[in-house]
Amino acid sequence: MTKKALVIGGGIAGPVTAMALQRAGIDSEVFEAYERGSEGVGAFLTLAVNGLEALRVLDLHDLVCDLGMDSSLMRMSNGRGKPLGTLTQPSRTLKRADLYQVLRDEAVRRGARVHYGRRLVDASIADGRVRADFADGTSAEGDLLIGADGLRSRTRTIIDPGAPRAQHVGLLNTGGFARGVTVPGETGTSYFIFGKRCFFGYLIHPDGEVWWFANPPSPKEPTQEELAAITPARWRAELLELFKDDAGPMADIIRATDHIIPGWNTYDFPTVPRWFNERMVIVGDAAHATSPSAGQGASMAIEDAVVLATCLRDVPGVHDAFAAYERLRRGRVERVVKQGRRNGSGKAPGALGAFVRDLGMPMVMRQIAKRDLMAWIHDYRISWDAPVAAPVR
Ligand SMILES: Cc1cc2nc3c(=O)[nH]c(=O)nc-3n(C[C@H](O)[C@H](O)[C@H](O)COP(=O)(O)OP(=O)(O)OC[C@H]3O[C@@H](n4cnc5c(N)ncnc54)[C@H](O)[C@@H]3O)c2cc1C
Repeated sequence: MTKKALVIGGGIAGPVTAMALQRAGIDSEVFEAYERGSEGVGAFLTLAVNGLEALRVLDLHDLVCDLGMDSSLMRMSNGRGKPLGTLTQPSRTLKRADLYQVLRDEAVRRGARVHYGRRLVDASIADGRVRADFADGTSAEGDLLIGADGLRSRTRTIIDPGAPRAQHVGLLNTGGFARGVTVPGETGTSYFIFGKRCFFGYLIHPDGEVWWFANPPSPKEPTQEELAAITPARWRAELLELFKDDAGPMADIIRATDHIIPGWNTYDFPTVPRWFNERMVIVGDAAHATSPSAGQGASMAIEDAVVLATCLRDVPGVHDAFAAYERLRRGRVERVVKQGRRNGSGKAPGALGAFVRDLGMPMVMRQIAKRDLMAWIHDYRISWDAPVAAPVR
């Protein structure tokens, strides 16, 4: 019997889940909290090769590769300009808003129903069906509910009211798009600079625009109100101050940016104990947010969506299908979250930590490249045709 899924969240995992379910013969509707017009703001992200390959399973790879830019080479250096290492790994960097848009548009083109302005407030199970209630007073019913509702997932707390909160990783995020500035480097490369007081990354788009981000350290987690109170002018001044003793083009890039994206906190989720109940399950950041330092959050969300669809296709019974999905995904995603923490810890290490990092990192980077130590992340592939076995009871 064809099942009907209610997918909560129209970010990355939501539309990809809808398209994967469709391929598995399962009908779905997507409910996104925000109105369509409120997209278009925000930064950029990098899709690693494993995420790109997961998109390929659904024939979405080419769509994404029309956006943004290639970013397959990474060059690391410190605030004195000393090279710390290079890594090569196929990847694509694109604006978050463009990725959201293209995924949603393609889901709709393939027949998915995407509703906007529908914020999930509650969900309940009765007679083997699930009912979702939205803030606008409307509701929807289906056979299962998939929470692709991100870091602050409401679905997660419906499944487990005691679910842990995301943890602040001690870094803020800000960035922007600079025009009319000439910086060292070439397109296709991400430049990462471990400044004395702040981490900085930039890429040069083929059209000359410089895409950048910075991670000012902040051991204490600022509230949303505290962050909102920081004006763009203050961000600019604080960033210029943070980079004033560093070699590199940071100050030029910051000055050439008309609109500095207001800063936000960085979180991760080392573990979320419960991913599902009888009829509801979480995917993407809702289940396992990783710090942006892993460069894997979007890729993990895409992988989840594809794997979950294969489980629902092959494993009889919704609950057992969810269990199979968790069995296939939990180990991998929690390992990625740990890796993200490790990557992030080198961004604000203190004087001694910076000394050790600068000493050890070139060798570590050489070992990573030589022994392909990140292959477990990047070489992961999902076979759509391989049947998923039911969990052993
Ligand atoms: C600064 C930054 C840089 C990053 N860089 C990278 C990177 O380089 N590489 C990478 O792979 N990942 C990166 N990530 C992570 C990546 O953006 C996320 O992991 C990814 O967006 C997760 O997708 P998702 O669909 O699970 O959640 P989201 O993209 O957050 O989507 C969740 C959606 O659910 C909606 N929603 C929330 N609550 C409700 C509700 N109650 N009802 C209905 N809808 C709701 C939201 O409005 C949103 O549209 C970065 C993240 C940040 C913040």
